[in-house]
Amino acid sequence: MAEPMNILILSRNSRLYSTRRLVEAGRERGHQVRVIDPLRCYMDISPHRPEIHYKGENLEAIDAVIPRIGASITFYGTAVLRQFEMMGTFPVNESVAITRARDKLRSTQLLARKGIGLPRTTFGYSPDDTDDLIDLVGGAPMVIKLLEGTQGKGVVLAETRQAAESLIDAFRGLNVHFLAQEYIREAGGADIRCFVVGERVVASMRRQAKEGEFRSNIHRGGQASVVRITPEERTMAVRAARIMGLNVAGVDIIRSAHGPLVLEVNSSPGLEGIEKSTGKDIAGTIYQFMEKHARLGKTRTRGR
Ligand code: ADP
Ligand code: GLU
Repeated sequence: MAEPMNILILSRNSRLYSTRRLVEAGRERGHQVRVIDPLRCYMDISPHRPEIHYKGENLEAIDAVIPRIGASITFYGTAVLRQFEMMGTFPVNESVAITRARDKLRSTQLLARKGIGLPRTTFGYSPDDTDDLIDLVGGAPMVIKLLEGTQGKGVVLAETRQAAESLIDAFRGLNVHFLAQEYIREAGGADIRCFVVGERVVASMRRQAKEGEFRSNIHRGGQASVVRITPEERTMAVRAARIMGLNVAGVDIIRSAHGPLVLEVNSSPGLEGIEKSTGKDIAGTIYQFMEKHARLGKTRTRGR
C-alpha cells in the first residue's frame, strides 16, 4: 500500500459521478480525500507564506489536488490551482496545462506545431476572407466551432456553402471567434475517446452520435461502446496529452480516410461513460499515478 496522502478534489459538485468515484477510489486506497468547491477557496497571495482558505479554514499540508474544474469557471479555478502550486501541492493536472487545453485555438496551433494530425482547420478575421477560409477546408459541408464551447455546444455542421457563409456572418456580427474545419464525413458521427493517465492510454471507447446528429458527445446523446484502438492511435493520444502537458486527459480522435486525427484534448475527462463502457477502475489508475509521482514542490510547468 502506498503512503497515505492528504488529497483535495476541486469540484463544484460532490454528487457528480466522476467526483464520487474519485472520492471512493481514493478512500479505498487509504488516502484522506475531501471535495472542496473551488469558488469557496480564497487566497492570500503572499511571497513567503502563500495560503488558501476555505470557508474560514486555512488549508494546510495538502499533498495533492485533483482539479475537476468546469469550463465555466476556468479563470477562477485555475487561479486557485496556481495558488496550490505556489504552496508546493502536487496538481494532477497543472494550471498552465488546463488553461492551454481550454483554448481551442491555442491548443490546435500547439498540436499542429508538433506535427499531430488534425482535420484541416482555418481561422480568420475579415469578412473579405470568408471565401478563402471556406475553400481552404475544402468547401461545404464543413464544421464551424466557436472558440468557447464544450460538450459539443457551439459546434455546427454547415451543409452548404451558403449556410457556412451565413453562419460565419452571424458569428462575426456577434463578435465571437470561431474555427472553420474540414468535415470528416467518413467517420459517420463516431469518434474515439482515449483516456490517458501518465504516459498510457488506460481505456478507450467509441462514441457514436445519435441518429441525425454528427456530434458524438455523451452530453449530446452519443452512445459509448468498446473499441480496440490501433498502435498509431495509442501513440497519438499519448503524444497529444504530453504536448498539452496534461497527466490526465481525454483525447478525442476521429478516424478519417487518411488515418486518425485529433479533435481535441480534454483536461477534465468524465469518468462515467468510460468506466461504465469498459468496466475499468479509471479513478483507481489516477491514484496509482499520484502515488507514484506526487511529491511536494514538484510543480514544474510541463508541456512543450
Ligand atoms: P467539444 O469540445 O464541444 O466537444 P469537439 O470539437 O470535440 O467539441 O466536437 C464535438 C463533436 O463533434 C466531436 O466529438 C465529433 O463527434 C464531432 N466533430 C467535431 N469536429 C468534427 C469534424 N471536423 N468532422 C466530423 N465530426 C466532427
Ligand atoms: N464532462 C466531460 C468532459 O469534460 C464530457 C466529455 C464528453 O463530451 O463526452 O470530458
